[in-house]
Amino acid sequence: MSKPEQPARAILAYCRAGFEAASAAEIGAALKEPPSPRGVAKDTGYVLIPIPAGANIERVPQHTQSVFSRQVIFTLDAVAALGERDRVTPILAAVPQIMAAYGAVSLANVWVEYPDTNDGKALSKLAGALETRVLAGLSADHVIDSAAKFRLHVFLLNKQEARIGVVEVERASPWPLGIPRLKMPRDAPSRSTLKLAEAFHVFLGDDLERLLQPEMRAVDLGAAPGGWTWQLTHRGLHVMAVDNADLKGELVDNALVRHIREDGFRFRPKKPVDWLVCDMVEQPRRIATLVAMWLAEGHARHAIFNLKLPMKKRLEEIELCKAILHARLEPMGRTYHLVIKQLYHDREEVTAYCGFAPRSR
Ligand code: SAM
Repeated sequence: MSKPEQPARAILAYCRAGFEAASAAEIGAALKEPPSPRGVAKDTGYVLIPIPAGANIERVPQHTQSVFSRQVIFTLDAVAALGERDRVTPILAAVPQIMAAYGAVSLANVWVEYPDTNDGKALSKLAGALETRVLAGLSADHVIDSAAKFRLHVFLLNKQEARIGVVEVERASPWPLGIPRLKMPRDAPSRSTLKLAEAFHVFLGDDLERLLQPEMRAVDLGAAPGGWTWQLTHRGLHVMAVDNADLKGELVDNALVRHIREDGFRFRPKKPVDWLVCDMVEQPRRIATLVAMWLAEGHARHAIFNLKLPMKKRLEEIELCKAILHARLEPMGRTYHLVIKQLYHDREEVTAYCGFAPRSR
């Protein structure tokens, strides 16, 4: 008897609307296949990339390794038709096939999601209602095991169609839609504060409390009006806030802050600090060169920095910045980590961690 044919598999990646081409190019490069334009439509907030038969899916960058993907879902090439009345039955019927396609024996949970666009947000109520009912159906089928390796994702394209897939819980974003829910602190001087708050969670994870301790010392280059400095002082760090522009709000009289009106490219601390953060609006390669120098010369142990991307050749610019950092740090022979991600709170930009943090994970 011939083996039943495997359904064609695909990757579904969520990204910021407008960054579909960059997201597809990144995953295509990892699979060593140019992405088919079929699954890449501008401003949809997601891309679909067919997995070529025989491709090594271990190569696909998961959320934790990818720059532009907020979540990376392993799905099938075919769309699931949901109909209009009973949408739960078609979803439950599709689950065994998706589990078989990726070798999942049970599922930790189910999330029903939708694109991060205005059209997508109109599906949020339906998604919430479906999630409860699909979970009840899977529980009744004894498929749910909270310790399972995989989680089910149902991604509503509209009210009648969905893409159904799985993620590896350990390597996936812990937030529905890949969007962290962070509250804007009332007394922080700028919305940029959320970028650094998100960066701490994404890059430091379980090591956050250990790596950001009261009395540590930090430099914030391009600090004004002070959103990033606020995040650091909020955790009890002493901050040298370097910027010719004014700081705002409570930071003006905060004893943990020293405002230094100087060029961020020239400033160096007299004694090494624990943290360098940098949000200056400058060419990415200039920022990468500056950060590489700070780390290589021992001015700081860890750096979080923002790279403002050009409109075109975004991936190329990121690759260039990585090369600049590696060229300076590799010859030191010390273990270091470099992670670059477009955070939810990033716009035409990405944020990076580079430093000598020993990882507890
Ligand atoms: N991270 C800040 C926050 O959370 O409020 C926002 C920083 S804003 C995007 C960029 C800042 O970089 C501006 O205040 C600007 O004055 C400063 N800047 C640009 N070039 C600079 C330089 N060469 N030296 C110091 N500051 C610079």
